[in-house]
Amino acid sequence: MKTSITILSDNQPSEGFESEHGLSWLVETSGSGSILLDAGASDLFLRNAQKMNIDLSSVKEIALSHGHWDHGNGLTFLKSKRVTCHPEVFRKRFSRNGTRSVGLSFTEEQIRGKLTFRKTSTPLFLNERVVFLGEIPRKFEFENSPTYFTLDNGNPDLLPDDSALAVIHNDELIVLTGCAHSGVCNIVDYAKQVTGITKINTVMGGFHLKHINHQTEETISCLKSMGVDHVLPSHCTSFEVVNEFQKHWAESVITTGRVITFS
Ligand SMILES: [Zn+2]
Ligand SMILES: [Zn+2]
Repeated sequence: MKTSITILSDNQPSEGFESEHGLSWLVETSGSGSILLDAGASDLFLRNAQKMNIDLSSVKEIALSHGHWDHGNGLTFLKSKRVTCHPEVFRKRFSRNGTRSVGLSFTEEQIRGKLTFRKTSTPLFLNERVVFLGEIPRKFEFENSPTYFTLDNGNPDLLPDDSALAVIHNDELIVLTGCAHSGVCNIVDYAKQVTGITKINTVMGGFHLKHINHQTEETISCLKSMGVDHVLPSHCTSFEVVNEFQKHWAESVITTGRVITFS
């Protein structure tokens, strides 16, 4: 059994590849096809794929982790694909002071002719080995930190649409997060519950942790107590926090152009 994650867009570059504040990863599972997780903030994921001789035209399934610009704006460069996402991804949403739009740059009506949207708040298998988790139950108190975002009515945006993928690999799980606004530990805990698989091989993606604070420390000890073998924070995780995780899990930094393989 082989699984590979190709980093098409992320915040840090490998030599010869561009990066951006965004996330787009290609998830390939032997025997069950390929799924694109997010499309980044621009067409960078397509340009990096071209550099790597990856033909994305054959990839028909996309999972959108949540409705933020840095994960979904790249969708405008695609057509004839199906996007699985939470029903609330098209919310109008803003930065905390309400001045800057942080939602998707297009409405559902504007993109409907190019892509089809399959919305679910409950878990859905995208193929035999990849589960879109839907809405993530908020279980751990330490992950209920104040939100950075607001809705157009001024109320806080708690990102109910923030989801993730669980990939089954040799009876273990590889958990892929977008921004993990719903909490990394909440996501991993739910992935275990949904799949019935308790062994976590790897957790990787944006963790949305900016400082070494109570939440970061609790996240590390929670993932340790869950027995996670590999943890690779990227994207919206600060350098400081990535360094802190590396003290506990000696992994290299995720960079665009990398292919992470599991066999
Ligand atoms: Zn993000
Ligand atoms: Zn986000």
